Formats: sequence, structure tokens, C-alpha cells
Amino acid sequence: MNTLDFTYQARPGRIVFGAGSLRHLERELINLNAERALVICSAEQRATGADIAGRLGARAAGLFDRAMMHVPLELVREARSVATASKADCVIVVGGGSAMGLGKAIALESTMPILAVPTTYAGSEMTPIFGITEAGLKRTGTDLRVLPKCVIYDPLLTTTLPVGLSVTSGINAIAHAAEGLYAQDANPVTSLMAEEGIASLARAIPKLVSTPDDIEFRSLALYGAWLCGSVLGSVGMSLHHKLCHTLGGSFDLPHAQTHTIVLPHALAYNRVAAPEAMKRIARAVDASDAALGVYELARQTGAPMSLKEIGMRAQDVDRAAEITCASPYWNPRPIETSAIRALIWNAFEGAPPCA
Ligand code: NAD
Repeated sequence: MNTLDFTYQARPGRIVFGAGSLRHLERELINLNAERALVICSAEQRATGADIAGRLGARAAGLFDRAMMHVPLELVREARSVATASKADCVIVVGGGSAMGLGKAIALESTMPILAVPTTYAGSEMTPIFGITEAGLKRTGTDLRVLPKCVIYDPLLTTTLPVGLSVTSGINAIAHAAEGLYAQDANPVTSLMAEEGIASLARAIPKLVSTPDDIEFRSLALYGAWLCGSVLGSVGMSLHHKLCHTLGGSFDLPHAQTHTIVLPHALAYNRVAAPEAMKRIARAVDASDAALGVYELARQTGAPMSLKEIGMRAQDVDRAAEITCASPYWNPRPIETSAIRALIWNAFEGAPPCA
């Protein structure tokens, strides 16, 4: 056994979890000492946003229902002025990572706390990381003001998540925990959360395909997503996240699908350099090899398997490798340009991860 030697940074935040837990919304708002909340959601989720505003009654300061991917600065400015004009003292965000991103951008320049109601498995609600896109460039940063003070996880709100997105969003969450297990600043607490998070999602994801309305498995998936998001919010990410940020940011590939396709290949790249983490990931997905186990989970649940089928062009592979290698994140195995190029080609073609 290795000698224990670690730093663990706990993140503040209150979690309210359970089917129907949205009924605690007003109680949680009062607990934050808030009187009027602005509700943020995307256009597709207007009905859920309106339902939340309706539940708040006089405590609703308004509904801003135009959150969109990549958090464009113009939209942030508009949402910030709506928040100020509405005299809101709290932001309630309902939705996936895109809606959460807009709520975070508002909180960044105000003293308003965020109460988050996540409806995908992306995990942004558990991190102090924000991103705002200006003139095509996404500026990211870390600030504790954007970390939600309270998160209500209600699995009932996730039953409308389409099956395809349920699978890829779930594997997106697994990616946070997998990289958390071999992070430079990994520690026993986040590693426990990571393994439990991966195991919960790996059990739940096939059931989300066969019985998408099953609340037991929707709960298990959301529980896993919470754990994986906590890992993302606590320790550093490596090659896999760098690849996905590059592919999403520079080539506009869809977030959860890109994570799903790249993860087995990133794990194969790090297989020899991070044997203990690989053992735990493999155990959590109930396979003998971490990379192959995640690949099979995706394949058997009908996820897209190649970058070309989600819109990447062959002529962009070399450029993606260059960008990834130009400013890499710390990674257990050193970044070698030719091996990264080969990795991206494999993911482009949808080939199984290297043995
Ligand atoms: P998303 O928020 O863009 O949602 C995808 C689609 O699903 C949207 O059309 C949304 O309206 C819809 N949707 C969400 N919940 C639904 C539900 N319950 N039923 C039906 N439709 C629903 O995608 P995402 O994968 O949740 O988030 C991705 C974004 O979040 C990326 O931009 C990523 O960079 C960001 N992100 C940030 C962090 C962070 O720590 N800052 C962490 C993870 C992801």
C-alpha cells in the first residue's frame, strides 16, 4: 500500500437530492436568504423554467429563457441587465451545462448566489469554472462566486432528456471521474467519489436506453453525475479534457458526443502510465480493461463512435493534434505529437482503442 500523502480541498455547497426534490425549492431559496429569483433556462426548456417561476409565485423576479451553447458575451450582457432590472437577489438555473454557463456568467459580476437545478449529467453545477465566448474565443476561468450555493437534483426532471443525449451526457460525466482518478492532485476522497460515480453511471446508462422513464435508474445516473461533477470541481483534468476542449472549441463538435467518442482513446493513451486508476475504472465499468470497457459501454448503448459521424473533417485532424500539443494540460503520460495524431485518427474513424 502507498503511504498516504495528499491535499483535499472540499467545495462548499448544499445538495438536495431525490425524485420530487424540486418541491423544496422555496425552502432552499429562503435558506439562501434570497427574496427574488431570476430563473434561467434555454428556449427548449422554457416549460420547465416557467413551471419553476410559477412555483415561486411572488418570489419570481422573471424568466430568462434564451441560454445557449458557448455562453456568448452579448447574451451575458443582456442577461446581466435583465437580472439587475428585475431586482433579483438570486439566480435559479435549470438545465444543462449551457444554461449553467449563463447563470455563472451573471454570478461572476454580482453578489447573487446560484441555486442550480441540473437536468443533464454534464456536472457544471459542481465546479467553480466558468466560460464566456467573445469574438469566437472562449475565455475560461475559476471563481468561487460561480459555484452554486445549493443544487437540487431531481431525477424527475431528467426523464425528458432524449435517450441519445442521456447516454453521451452520462459518459461525459464518466470522463470527469476517470481523469480525476489519475489527476496529479488526486486524493483518496475524490477517488472514492470517482469510482462510485463511474460505477453508478455504468450501471444506469444501459437502463436509460431500455427503460428511459425508470426513476430508479434516472436517480442512479444523476447520483453518478453529481459524484463525477464533484471530482471535476476538485481536481485537475488531463489529456482527455484537453482534446475535447480543442475539438469543441476549435472545430465546433458537440460537447457530450465528443467526450463519449474520445474517452476510450484517451484512456488507452494513458493505460500504461496510470495502472492504478485504470484498475479502478475497469472495476467500475465491470470490464477487464478501462478503455475497452468504456468503448463497449458506448457501443452497446448506441452512442456515436466516430468523430467523422458528428461532423469532423479529415483535413482537421492534424490541426487538432497541433492545438492539443501546443499547450497541453498535465497528463500522466507525456504528450507525444505523433501518438496524439494517431489517437485522433482512431477516434475520427471510430476504431476500437489501441490494445
Ligand atoms: P446543454 O446544456 O447544451 O444541453 C443540451 C441540450 O439538451 C439543450 O438543447 C438543452 O435544452 C437540452 N436539455 C437539457 N436538459 C434536458 C432535459 N432534461 N430534457 C430535454 N432536453 C434537455 O449540454 P450539456 O452537455 O449539459 O452541457 C454542455 C456545456 O456545458 C458545454 O458548453 C460545456 O463546455 C459546459 N460545461 C461546463 C462545465 C464547467 O465546469 N464550467 C462543466 C461541464 C460542461
